[in-house]
Amino acid sequence: MCGTKPQEHGFLRYEGKIYRPPSEAYSYILQATIGCSWNACTYCDMYRDKSFRVRDLPETLEDIQQAKLLHGTEVEKVFVADGDALVLPLETWEILLRECREAFPRLRRVSAYATAMNLLEKSPEELELLREWGLSLLYIGPESGDDVTLKRIAKGADFADHVEGARKAHIAGMKLSAIFLLGAGGIERSEEHRRESARLATAMDPRFVSLLTLTVIPGTPIAKLEEGGRFELPPVLELLRELRQFVQDANPSDAIFRTNHASNYLPLGGRLPRDRTRILEVLDGALSGEIPLTPEGARGL
Ligand code: SF4
Repeated sequence: MCGTKPQEHGFLRYEGKIYRPPSEAYSYILQATIGCSWNACTYCDMYRDKSFRVRDLPETLEDIQQAKLLHGTEVEKVFVADGDALVLPLETWEILLRECREAFPRLRRVSAYATAMNLLEKSPEELELLREWGLSLLYIGPESGDDVTLKRIAKGADFADHVEGARKAHIAGMKLSAIFLLGAGGIERSEEHRRESARLATAMDPRFVSLLTLTVIPGTPIAKLEEGGRFELPPVLELLRELRQFVQDANPSDAIFRTNHASNYLPLGGRLPRDRTRILEVLDGALSGEIPLTPEGARGL
């Protein structure tokens, strides 16, 4: 999905690179699926080398037992990988969440990446059960609120789908962490992308909201569009202006806001709307050149 880094725990079995959100750096990563069931977003190369499958349950359960033996009393957070693990059938979730509760006595949070489609495919009753069994946080990356951009990046869901998915998650009592992608609309849709993304963040009302910056990765469909002159990433100052407008307009009830992902030019943090004025001041400092940006070479994916 959308804000990610390879996982570095050497003691556990993982197939391919493991990606997880920055906030799951200290979580036990349980790989219950391989790849992403959608695997079509034009900018994403995370799972292009994997065909999606649900991992064999006995193997996944063995991993939980192994983690229990090695770190059972330390694990407080579990992140279920890979790219859209919410897609797992309810029966599998039931077993995994029960085993995690039993293996890790200090467990206080289980989270996973999810797409809007995953949420729409689960019934309200199923989501409530998942919450009851311990799945309490979903990372969802609409990337943009602009329907034209969403179509172009092949997100598979539009503005309304994301609002409906978020509504279902809220009713089930799950927290949401929403991720948006600066530059996703290119130069052509930059205005609409920034405006509609702020509107979608308001409508989804997540507990956490973060922004990443698009990096065009060679070999991805968006890179091919760029090579053919059909996509152009906005220049750095324009990306900062996208961020500025997002901060100015987004109005969730009370969201923890972060741009601490390695892809960004300016790491910011605070709460929205509470800290809006302070965050805007920092952004204005960066736009006027008073506050230095992360140098190009120091950025990561
Ligand atoms: S939903 Fe899209 S961005 Fe997320 S992992 Fe799948 S293909 Fe990549």
